[in-house]
Amino acid sequence: MRQSQLFTKTRKEAPSDEVAKNAQLLIRAGYVYKVMAGVYAYTPLGLRVLENIKRIVREEMDAIGGQELIMSSLQKKSTWEETGRWDDDVVDVWFKSKLKDDTEVGFGWSHEEAVIEMIKQHLSSYKDLPINAYQFQTKLRNELRAKSGIIRGREFIMKDMYSCSIDSEQHEAFYEATIQAYKKIYNRIGIGEDTYMTFASGSAFTKFSHEFQTICDAGEDTVFLHCGKNIAINEEVLNDQTLADLGIARDELEAVKTVEVGNIFNFGIQKSEDTDFTFTNDKGEKQYVHLGSYGIGITRVMGVVVEKFSDDKGIVWPESIAPFKVHLVALGENIPAEAEQVYTELTAAGIEVLFDDRTGVMPGEKFADADLIGIPHRIVVSERSLKNGGAEYKSRTSTESEIVALTDIAAKISHA
Ligand code: ATP
Ligand code: MG
Repeated sequence: MRQSQLFTKTRKEAPSDEVAKNAQLLIRAGYVYKVMAGVYAYTPLGLRVLENIKRIVREEMDAIGGQELIMSSLQKKSTWEETGRWDDDVVDVWFKSKLKDDTEVGFGWSHEEAVIEMIKQHLSSYKDLPINAYQFQTKLRNELRAKSGIIRGREFIMKDMYSCSIDSEQHEAFYEATIQAYKKIYNRIGIGEDTYMTFASGSAFTKFSHEFQTICDAGEDTVFLHCGKNIAINEEVLNDQTLADLGIARDELEAVKTVEVGNIFNFGIQKSEDTDFTFTNDKGEKQYVHLGSYGIGITRVMGVVVEKFSDDKGIVWPESIAPFKVHLVALGENIPAEAEQVYTELTAAGIEVLFDDRTGVMPGEKFADADLIGIPHRIVVSERSLKNGGAEYKSRTSTESEIVALTDIAAKISHA
């Protein structure tokens, strides 16, 4: 993509009311646009990052048997009355409205009840199970506080998956497969090392649920880490019983600030009993479905990555989710023909390039923009680099650059 055609511009200052580092950097670099507190739009650059995160999540969900669908944002009141969750005293984040005929509708803050209602229409016997359905959906939540940038939005994208199983054995196998898939996802996104599976409060059915918590200074949560065992405990369940269950001592734990990037729940058959969600077994008997629910905060993960991987110059994207692999920066009053040629060749080789072909922008400003935008590999083509034998190559994080012959650039990038 040609930067001269990108409608977003970088800016030196973030809006004065924006206190979160992730949003400050993302706004300054042109990835997001702040509509109001807790509500952000994603520009062409931001969308590329989101789509990369979604692609990784989609691949891992498909690999364990997930089927992608998309539910609606407008939801019926009756769908939520059955489980008692229409009530604002029970769920305090509802946005609600009315149709012209005064019928109340809710804006989807979650889709558990809605998915169950739909799958009910298609489930009759045990032969139809398991069903594992997921979506990427914009959730709308009237959050009280929205000071963490895209880490806590009033409108945000979540991947939510729902598993319907015959019995606890089938459920457990899928629950475990999801844990492994989540680990792969966070590894691929680049936050795996700092992301811990965390024991959190369970349901009427289970002692614990599991959260995936990433160590991050900007975190709103505190968890207690056990480094040796690679597990963490949410403070809400930190008590003598939990310590005994997990076989660890209080003084082996270290308190850290974290962000919840995902969570998984086992509902057992509780929700199915509430909603009469059943199937018939091989003896023709009515059985309740075992339910699980599995979330990942897609936009939140993007914010966490920015919080964790940035320096005083800007964002440092992990290659797996960067909007482009290469930032090709051409210098000079006229864009050198060699830069155009490099752009054509890299693009033809399937390498994603942001080509800074802007004229009338000083070199210092182009470099500052490249650092702020944070693409992993930078190639500079200028009169000087050409005199020195080709283009200058530098990774986003190194301070040294090297000269690469024009004919070797594609190979250099492919192996970088
Ligand atoms: P939190 O405890 O942070 O409020 P939650 O327990 O309400 O989150 P769920 O409703 O289970 O979260 O949502 C699943 C995932 O969606 C969370 O693990 C988190 O990554 C993400 N998420 C939840 N709320 C928000 C939000 N307001 N903005 C962005 N992401 C969110
Ligand atoms: Mg939570």
